[in-house]
Amino acid sequence: MYERYQGHLQHQLADIEAAGLFKKERILVTAQGPEIRTDAGKDVLNFCANNYLGFSNNPQLIEAAKKALDSHGYGMSSVRFICGTTDLHKELEKAISDFFGMEDTILYAAAFDANGGVFEPLLTDEDAIISDTLNHASIIDGVRLCKAQRFRYSNADMEDLEDQLQQAQPCRFRLIVTDGVFSMDGNVTPLDKIKELADKYDALIMVDESHSAGVIGKTGRGTTEHFNLRGQVEIITGTLGKAFGGAIGGFTTGKKEIIGMLRQRSRPYLFSNSIPPAIAAAGIEAFKIMTGSTELLDRLHVNRSYFVEQMTKIGYKIKPTQSGICAVMLGDAQLSQDMASRLLEEGIYVIGFYFPVVPKGEARIRVQLSAAHTPEQLRKVVAAFEKVGKDLGIIS
Ligand SMILES: *Cc1c(COP(=O)(O)O)cnc(C)c1O
Repeated sequence: MYERYQGHLQHQLADIEAAGLFKKERILVTAQGPEIRTDAGKDVLNFCANNYLGFSNNPQLIEAAKKALDSHGYGMSSVRFICGTTDLHKELEKAISDFFGMEDTILYAAAFDANGGVFEPLLTDEDAIISDTLNHASIIDGVRLCKAQRFRYSNADMEDLEDQLQQAQPCRFRLIVTDGVFSMDGNVTPLDKIKELADKYDALIMVDESHSAGVIGKTGRGTTEHFNLRGQVEIITGTLGKAFGGAIGGFTTGKKEIIGMLRQRSRPYLFSNSIPPAIAAAGIEAFKIMTGSTELLDRLHVNRSYFVEQMTKIGYKIKPTQSGICAVMLGDAQLSQDMASRLLEEGIYVIGFYFPVVPKGEARIRVQLSAAHTPEQLRKVVAAFEKVGKDLGIIS
């Protein structure tokens, strides 16, 4: 039996490869950080991790995790409601609620699960979900698992959102869902305008702060802080896998009754293992560092501003960004791939994205900045872009 199916898969895999869409994995032999080594023995500067605050290899987080390994052991071997909840899990949930100014928090194995498990327990076919077209795949999948009616609005397009809200008026409840920062462009969702429309059309709001928590807002508390709307959205989801240490884990934080219902009915919470205590302990430490000082956050923004300024000066076009994400626009798909491989030769690790990940004709290199990048490393990345850009005739 397998032979016929094997042929089918081999054919599909060959198609993916022929279309130039085959994903290969580079193997790191060092810790994640601004400077990494691959198994090819090559040392490269890393500008494609979601390591916005440099927490992936932060000594304080590592120490907290080690301590918890000694005090609470390795794994939980249980879902939360059977015997998978420790004092560390509760402490982390409290830290997340406080950080975002919300009432309660529920942890998941990943933000993918948080988004996968948030809609179905809360809304039925009488309700409406109104979702930004550029929302993360996990939101799209979560919405699919829910019977609510689906409405979509073009990325950050408030006229379109208003249209959709009008169409959704006959529904019982309406939930607007948006990423806080969109991963391909680095733009911040217009939450102030979304809030106005939500008030006008009687809708709830959910923001996925995966790329914005720890990055956006005066003290890194995300888009609700940025727009002075702390505590004024009903649901926030986020990840521990990006700015807050980059290990694993996700969360939903929000109104008490919403979190209460998720604890009873959210399937990825009820039927999937608890995060390890060491991860919870390191997470607590990450929020402690973020609460105590804005030093890392400030450095991230200084680094991002420097990069944008220098790149613009030498002739590159970068999409307007307030986050750790810079989309260096090239247009042509092949050019984005040539550019990325030439940059790798220069010791710079970045990824080129093209259709269907981004719109046709909008191929780009996505550069992700970190507080951990040094001024010297930033000068090197700009110099490499200048050299390769001139060689490929992108800039003069
Ligand atoms: C990365 C990301 C996720 C998934 O996070 P994980 O914790 O890795 O599953 C979900 N939503 C958004 C917007 C993301 O950027």
